[in-house]
Amino acid sequence: PTQTLTEMMAESVRTFGRRPALEFFGAVTRYSDLGEQIERAAEGLRRLGVRKGDRVAIVLPNCPQHVVAFYAALRLGAIVIEHNPLYTARELRHQFEDHGARIAIAWDKTVDTLADFPSDLKLERIVSVDITAALPFAKRLLLRAPVARARASRAQLTTTPTTRGTVSWSRLLGHRRVSRRVAGPAVGDIALLQYTSGTTGTPKGAILTHSNLLANALQGRAWVPGLVEGEEVFYGVLPLFHAYGMTLCLTFAMSIGARLVLFPKFDLDLVRDAARKTSPTFLPAVPPIYDQLARAASRGTLDLSTVRFAISGAMSLPVATVDRWEEATGGLLVEGYGMTETSPVALGNPIGPTRRPGTVGVPFPSTEIRVVDPDDPTVDRPLGESGELLIRGPQVFQGYWGRPGETAAALLPGGWLRTGDIASVSADGFVTIVDRLKELIITGGFNVSPTEVEDALEAHPDVVGAAVVPLPRSSGGEEVAAAIVLREGAELDVEALRDYCRTRLAAYKVPRRIVAVEDLPRSLIGKVLRREVRERLLSA
Ligand code: ATP
Ligand code: MG
Repeated sequence: PTQTLTEMMAESVRTFGRRPALEFFGAVTRYSDLGEQIERAAEGLRRLGVRKGDRVAIVLPNCPQHVVAFYAALRLGAIVIEHNPLYTARELRHQFEDHGARIAIAWDKTVDTLADFPSDLKLERIVSVDITAALPFAKRLLLRAPVARARASRAQLTTTPTTRGTVSWSRLLGHRRVSRRVAGPAVGDIALLQYTSGTTGTPKGAILTHSNLLANALQGRAWVPGLVEGEEVFYGVLPLFHAYGMTLCLTFAMSIGARLVLFPKFDLDLVRDAARKTSPTFLPAVPPIYDQLARAASRGTLDLSTVRFAISGAMSLPVATVDRWEEATGGLLVEGYGMTETSPVALGNPIGPTRRPGTVGVPFPSTEIRVVDPDDPTVDRPLGESGELLIRGPQVFQGYWGRPGETAAALLPGGWLRTGDIASVSADGFVTIVDRLKELIITGGFNVSPTEVEDALEAHPDVVGAAVVPLPRSSGGEEVAAAIVLREGAELDVEALRDYCRTRLAAYKVPRRIVAVEDLPRSLIGKVLRREVRERLLSA
């Protein structure tokens, strides 16, 4: 791309001025208003000392202020760092230690947590965004917020007054426009440190440039047929603090002059309320969300017939979910693949009759892939055989913040990114993701893909969720174990379930141990955390 995100946004403000840019609980912000608020907030941040290359932390749920804060920081050439606003004090502190931002823009519920960080952290100023009162949904959101609970107990314990200055959001916006002397970012500058989901370990800050992020939005544009500029309605149910929501909801929507309806969290009732007013045409999400929406649509309590683009990613999409969605809505549900390190989309199914359920489709425009030997990534695997997927393209990140060792391990000479995922490519170029290399189970010398076993278990009518992990076997080596969530009212019959698995899987893949659990631990975007499942099973 020849533009920065800042220039893209300015162009959309000029082109789509009077059109709605954001909608939040019915309140609409037009492109022209959004442009003005960005200018004001940028000047506010400048007066707080933010300069080109500085890091600005955002700790907000999806809300209009989040969008303004993001583009205001970029306008000054600063680097944004996104955070999960429901992280605990401990998780947030780790992240702030890692990136060392001096300024944070946070929702009211986390301000005290941030203010109380140990004094050796670099954080100096906090801009407080009062949104809790404005969120009709806040009560339920907060009930699940560990941060809020941590705060309540802290109130009794803390005696030290906070030393960090807090500024209100409205004061930040108290200036007319940004000083003319501000140069703004260049295309190759860092725009965002986006933390990975932490599925396999501690989240790492992926360094993404303006060019990376805008490239991915443009690739997305080339992918989606028949987009109408200025007319599309995006439903932002995915969090903006995750790479998927950031690009596929925010950047994409802003670049085509769409109306982005923001949700502080996915919730069926909220979607239903919004849909009564504004019909969605574009709804990027993850499989558990599509599943819930499709069930509501088939019960006739939600009309999703206007959705032309439903794009699933972040985890494998069960074919049963595709069928359920397509039957209930009459539209297509297609799967793509990506990671934080690829801004995030790298592969996608064609949006049309040639899409192939069960695969993640073909490489995005100007994206190349290879399938190699995981033990020696210089050796390519023959077509059709599985191996580690490598990716090269304009959306590939620049490395992990402060982690030269992990960066060198992930980025190979020539710009190839090691995905850590095992994949195979069909003769006509469609890619199937087998599993994460790290999560393959080796039992008796055979590789077992946990995803394949989970799919077999979930095909059983009594099983609504499954997570498959390796457990140490008393005789040495590993065995396949499963934690399953049963349909309400169903009872666990381990032998019957194992027999069922035998009709779908080779004997060595059939779980030796099956344990019923209440629910599965998931990341905020809905990925099952197999690491935690394994720990729970080990300590059970
Ligand atoms: P961490 O890197 O911190 O362990 P993470 O890899 O889950 O966490 P993300 O960048 O959010 O963090 O996720 C990227 C990963 O998600 C991919 O490497 C892949 O394993 C998985 N993934 C994404 N899309 C798909 C898909 N369509 N099918 C299967 N897996 C997918
Ligand atoms: Mg990863």
